[in-house]
Amino acid sequence: MIQVNHVFHDYEGKGKCAVSDISFAVEGGSIFGFLGPSGAGKSTIQNIMTGLLPIQQGEVLYDGKSVRHLNTGFFNRVGVSFEQNNLYSSLTGLENLKYYAALFSVPTVNPMELLERVGLRDDANKRVARYSKGMRQRLTFARALINRPQYLFLDEPTSGLDPKTAVGIRELILEQKARGAAVFLTTHSMELADALSDTVAFLYGGVIAAMDTPEALKRVYGRREVRVVYREAGEERERIFPLDDKAALSAFLTAADIVKLHSQEATLEEIFLRVTGKELGA
Ligand code: ADP
Ligand code: MG
Repeated sequence: MIQVNHVFHDYEGKGKCAVSDISFAVEGGSIFGFLGPSGAGKSTIQNIMTGLLPIQQGEVLYDGKSVRHLNTGFFNRVGVSFEQNNLYSSLTGLENLKYYAALFSVPTVNPMELLERVGLRDDANKRVARYSKGMRQRLTFARALINRPQYLFLDEPTSGLDPKTAVGIRELILEQKARGAAVFLTTHSMELADALSDTVAFLYGGVIAAMDTPEALKRVYGRREVRVVYREAGEERERIFPLDDKAALSAFLTAADIVKLHSQEATLEEIFLRVTGKELGA
């Protein structure tokens, strides 16, 4: 389990925190979706969690052990797929994975098998210098899985990928959860977060604005309503009824000339907008 407890970070030491009082936990065998617009503080938290930024205030624990005291044993148990992660351009995709695998003192996954899973089998022996942005992204993702990490950090794993490849990556992420990994997923994509996450946190302005299961968020913040299209005076009109006012809805359905009914469940996107007053953007 990863625990983040009351983390604050002030880059300039002038009392203005980029992130404030951030607390959450990512259990083994679960996916935690971390959502927020640009500038919300996602990278700051990721970097503190992975030790790239020192902790100023608060604590990050991996199975009870502070990130301040982690050793090479931690390196063997963590997988990180960030956009800015460097690959070796002069090596092939396969060589990149083999080289990386050799750094671990734990059993690693067969590199060719991983390349196959991310759709890079045919490009395995091509130099990474000739890879497209999407191919590099998939290679970085594959590299993060090579040591079967117990803690997995993924930053926008499917953005910019074609739908078929994105489905394959989603499956791989779910497999990591199934084998017990704690997955920390940062994304702009509400759809991806909704589909994969056991818990989502909405980060906005450096604080967590809401955090729960996607289902609970929809229940609490979602508008459960029905849009009724009806005909009146020769024109199509519409009205929206909250589902909790069944009497009003049924009275209207009986009296009006109904054309169509649509049930509307709130999406995470709409809930984010409601909780923060801001669009998540792309
Ligand atoms: P996100 O990853 O959600 O886009 P960041 O964590 O990168 O957000 O940034 C959060 C806030 O911290 C932003 O206001 C950003 O300008 C500020 N920030 C990020 N990195 C630095 C830095 N190295 N020095 C000063 N401010 C920074
Ligand atoms: Mg960022």
